[in-house]
Amino acid sequence: MRKIIDIRIPPSRIKDSIFIEKRIAQKGKLRRGTFNYQLVKRSIDARGKQPVYQLRYLVGNDLDPLGPGQVETWYSRSPDAKKALIIGAGPCGYFAALRCIEHGICPIIVERGKDVRSRRRDLRQIQQFHTVNPDSNYCFGEGGAGTYSDGKLYTRSVKRGNVKKVLQILHYHGANRNILIDAHPHIGSNKLPNIIKAIRETILSNGGEVHFNARVVDFVVRDQQIRGVITLDGRALSADAVILCTGHGARDIYQLCHSLDIQMEFKPFALGMRLEHPQQLIDEIQYNRTKRGNYLPAASYSLSCQLEDSGVFSFCMCPGGLIVPAATAPGELVVNGMSLSKRDSPFANAAVVNTIDTNPEEGNPFGGVNYQSELEHKIFNYGDGTQRAPAQRLTDFMESKISVDLPKSSYIPGIYPGPLHELMPGEIVQNVRSAILHFDKKMKGYYTSEAQFVGLESRTSAPIRIPRDNENLMSPDLIGLFPAGEGAGYAGGILSAALDGERVADALNKYVHSIQTSTS
Ligand SMILES: Cc1cc2nc3c(=O)[nH]c(=O)nc-3n(C[C@H](O)[C@H](O)[C@H](O)COP(=O)(O)OP(=O)(O)OC[C@H]3O[C@@H](n4cnc5c(N)ncnc54)[C@H](O)[C@@H]3O)c2cc1C
Repeated sequence: MRKIIDIRIPPSRIKDSIFIEKRIAQKGKLRRGTFNYQLVKRSIDARGKQPVYQLRYLVGNDLDPLGPGQVETWYSRSPDAKKALIIGAGPCGYFAALRCIEHGICPIIVERGKDVRSRRRDLRQIQQFHTVNPDSNYCFGEGGAGTYSDGKLYTRSVKRGNVKKVLQILHYHGANRNILIDAHPHIGSNKLPNIIKAIRETILSNGGEVHFNARVVDFVVRDQQIRGVITLDGRALSADAVILCTGHGARDIYQLCHSLDIQMEFKPFALGMRLEHPQQLIDEIQYNRTKRGNYLPAASYSLSCQLEDSGVFSFCMCPGGLIVPAATAPGELVVNGMSLSKRDSPFANAAVVNTIDTNPEEGNPFGGVNYQSELEHKIFNYGDGTQRAPAQRLTDFMESKISVDLPKSSYIPGIYPGPLHELMPGEIVQNVRSAILHFDKKMKGYYTSEAQFVGLESRTSAPIRIPRDNENLMSPDLIGLFPAGEGAGYAGGILSAALDGERVADALNKYVHSIQTSTS
């Protein structure tokens, strides 16, 4: 006998296994002690007066006591493998590499940044000394932009691949089993580095290679086919095909593609500021109680508002999180958000961004990139040449006033009262103001002087796309080049980037086995 049973319980009972078993027995009309049960889905329903946990159990008497999440090891070394060069060790690159190994292809990963542990020192340099290393920062380095993030594992692109398998692979490499159960799973930036290191070890132990401190500066092209890459220190690496997954911060790669006549096109994107509230306030609004207690996680939210010509939405909400400096080069100011696995900081932050659907420079594929970059430099130059960010109480932003004082913030480099209503483009200011009033209707108390905007949040999604053929996922301009992940415009988040990496590795597998010649 196996069946699915859904129950709803008050938060205070979440750790009470006797209570839970009784509820399952009641709901399933079963006798206690005659069945096993496994939690397969967990979510919180906070729509009513009091929040409740919604739990889905698989119930039966022949269940695996270890529960779901056990994966077979798909990986095995293939001695005469074809070679795939993968530029970028982000989620797209590492999942592409794992998939290549499954196909018996040897992945060679080339990463401009450092390994995930060494990368930490450079993050400290940004936080404490305001020095941005253009090869090692919150976006660049092993694990990519997703490493020192919130590690939210949620995607709407479920049709693009096997989400469950990606989660199982993360679990296999050390992520908590909860990611297989929670409706909105997250890992936390304190846990991600070990998982990434474990993935690297799987790649290496199956014959793959990972080259750090290896910024790709050129492609080796012969007969309109990519044969390899050149790194900044003059190394030449060759392979049968190349996956380009360098993320949307790698503007030098866009320039390289442009110089090699690889076509690119403008892609709609979004830009705005990060809004920080006290977490307690968000808990009160969402859970309808003054204290969330020990049994509920820090509350989150997701808001959107459609305006006449564009949309404004909250993005990458980090409950109990921190605002972090996410510039990829000196002279820029960019913020983003992250949180630790416990999500226990007293702050809740989320990007509030406005969609930019039309190219600011018609006909120029770099129109969106230029728009982002100019604002990032403008806001940096307005300040004192450090990573300190301009901030404004939400009420002052709405009323065009520079804040006299500011609430405490989680942003370690520091904040100062700045006129974000003047620094940000006028249309975005107007749209965000309309949206805030709308959001306050959905979440009473959201519009408050206790919240503040911290600017600028410019890198929520890629403003450019590197086209690829729908059938073989290859660039129509360069045989053997597979643009992938967020930077190429095919993903927006850790999960979707991982799924795209797998998809492109499948396409690369077909390609390398269809060609006769090999450069190895
Ligand atoms: C602070 C922060 C928090 C985030 N939080 C979340 C979250 O909670 N959940 C979520 O889903 N998403 C989050 N994101 C977004 C997510 O990280 C990205 O969508 C995802 O990492 C994209 O994956 P990718 O592999 O396509 O690119 P990236 O992760 O950007 O990886 C690209 C890699 O390529 C390397 N590279 C770049 N140029 C070169 C070159 N020339 N030569 C060699 N290597 C190069 C980079 O160093 C980098 O490691 C966050 C992003 C940031 C910055």
